[in-house]
Amino acid sequence: MMSWSSPNFDSREGTPVSLVVLHYTGMATAEDALRRLVDPAPVAGAFPGPWQAADIDPATPLARVSSHWVVEENGRLHELVPEQHRAWHAGRGSWRGAENVNARSVGIEIANGGHDFGLPPYPEAQIVAVMGLVRDILSRHGLDGRAVIAHSDLAPGRKADPGEHFPWARLAQAGLAVHPAVPPTPRLPLASVGSQGALVARLRWKLAQIGYGVGEGDVFDEELSVVVRAVQRRIRPALIDGALDLETSALIDDFLERVGTFRS
Ligand SMILES: [Zn+2]
Repeated sequence: MMSWSSPNFDSREGTPVSLVVLHYTGMATAEDALRRLVDPAPVAGAFPGPWQAADIDPATPLARVSSHWVVEENGRLHELVPEQHRAWHAGRGSWRGAENVNARSVGIEIANGGHDFGLPPYPEAQIVAVMGLVRDILSRHGLDGRAVIAHSDLAPGRKADPGEHFPWARLAQAGLAVHPAVPPTPRLPLASVGSQGALVARLRWKLAQIGYGVGEGDVFDEELSVVVRAVQRRIRPALIDGALDLETSALIDDFLERVGTFRS
């Protein structure tokens, strides 16, 4: 059985681990993803995926990437980068007001084709393995479920993983994530792109308090809609439309209550 490890890492430069970032690999097979995550000089043509589209030269160099962990569909774990090092999984983004997420996170790549491959469901054995791994990471770094976020949470404009099929509520039940729950609430429209006023300013404040990278102001613009989509993907996957309705609003309030504010 092949053992994988990645040369794609550098130093955390003293930054303690405070986050666990969950990803899907977004590639056809776990082996494709493993090959890409350990490749010191990846090129587009070597890896099946969206970069194989006709308008992309297969000789294009790709960014070097890695993660600390990969979880295969059957639950098999691979530690590609030891957790004391900084792996390169998060890219550009922010959470709770700070960038350089790689320096302060452990990255878990869950083998799954994702949106480019029909958003396949996560098999039971894989979810059990992810939960065991997350539990172990949280305990080793003295963290709780509030530390566990989606790649789409820290980079809402660029990323949609691990996607709306990921069972956040199940992780939350085990104390391994935060997931809001509210009584049945109608999806009464409250605000959408073009809206303006105190409600929008308050929405921006709440999302920023949870951790999302949103600016201030009282205008509901396209950028805010992208962030609302990200939060819906996480807490209300049944309808991801980027608009604020009463149900989304109630869930955001409950989400904020569960994670707590991090600045006044
Ligand atoms: Zn990702």
